[in-house]
Amino acid sequence: METYRIGPIRPPSEAQSLLLQVTQGCTWNKCKFCNLYRHTRFKAYTIDSIKEDIDRMAQYARKVSEYRRPDGAWDVEGLNRELAGLSGEEQNCYYTVANWLINGGKNVFLQDGNTLALSGGKLTEVLKYLRQVFPRIERITSYGRAENLSRVSAEEFAELKAAGLDRIHSGFESGSDQVLRLVNKGVTSEQQIRAGQNIKAGGLELSVYFMPGLGGKALSQENARGMANVVSQIGPDFVRIRTAAVKPGTELYEDFRRGDFVLCSEEEKLMEIRTLVAETKGVSTRLVSDHIVNLLQGVRGSLDTDKEAMLAVIDGYLALPEEERKLFQIARRLGHVVSLKELPRISEARAAEYRRLTGGILDQAGWDRKMNDLIGGYI
Ligand code: SF4
Repeated sequence: METYRIGPIRPPSEAQSLLLQVTQGCTWNKCKFCNLYRHTRFKAYTIDSIKEDIDRMAQYARKVSEYRRPDGAWDVEGLNRELAGLSGEEQNCYYTVANWLINGGKNVFLQDGNTLALSGGKLTEVLKYLRQVFPRIERITSYGRAENLSRVSAEEFAELKAAGLDRIHSGFESGSDQVLRLVNKGVTSEQQIRAGQNIKAGGLELSVYFMPGLGGKALSQENARGMANVVSQIGPDFVRIRTAAVKPGTELYEDFRRGDFVLCSEEEKLMEIRTLVAETKGVSTRLVSDHIVNLLQGVRGSLDTDKEAMLAVIDGYLALPEEERKLFQIARRLGHVVSLKELPRISEARAAEYRRLTGGILDQAGWDRKMNDLIGGYI
């Protein structure tokens, strides 16, 4: 069977979504902390080529649906037999559609990094065609860069909503102009606010991302206060935490090597989340911690009604003795624990293994670097 394109990235919340690539790469490609698309030139696919991909997805969906029994259960053995007979690329397409249908066939995510760069008319046509071919889709979402989004009016967002777009994910990362400049994000907090308010006024859902630690030690609290201001002025539906990691191969890593960027400690990053929670006002936005890079997954809830509970989780961690905090950090960064409740269950043998792994680290800067490197392994 003819294959369709699948891009490299989607938010964790779209793990069960069908992925439709309408653009490739990123229009900006200059953020100092990101090398995701550094070797990929931005490209917007033609309407005909996107429609062809949708048609191919429908072919895979028909094939997969042959293994659905009349009672609604799936013949998994039959699906696997079919899968085994396909080429590598076909397997990927087949598996993605099968996974989507088995999980309800509800959501579609439009890839890549800045789909909203596609001119409004084109995107509207794609959305309508997608909904026509798959009429049971419940939600269509996409990434959009805040600078592009700030040039779209509330009326234009309403048109995209009417055509079938439901939610926009946008990597704001920070709401501080100083931090945005530092990392060359190419957008201002004013543009973020305009974009966010227009998206909400157009009836779309908005999910923005915040990166604690992105301003380094010097701009740590500034990073959080700026984000609290932007979130308070927009009231996005979600703020998703993505703890910053400075990775080799990025310009920010070169700043770090030269000593121009000093990494935050894990505690400083948590204090940023604390400030965001405490200082965001007048909105019922949900704070979401849905990525392994975040130290305390339990800090999540409504920025209206769950503030006290979220602050209590952070304060509970910060009140622990330093040795326990570090034990939890290393266990979490190695993926051995998820919640603070698991801290007492870390065995002595495992604690000894952690001590061996970090025994040569004598100062805080060395520890912060070790944690940064471990976080970077997940991105
Ligand atoms: S806008 Fe997003 S994808 Fe593009 S360079 Fe910046 S972080 Fe990377």
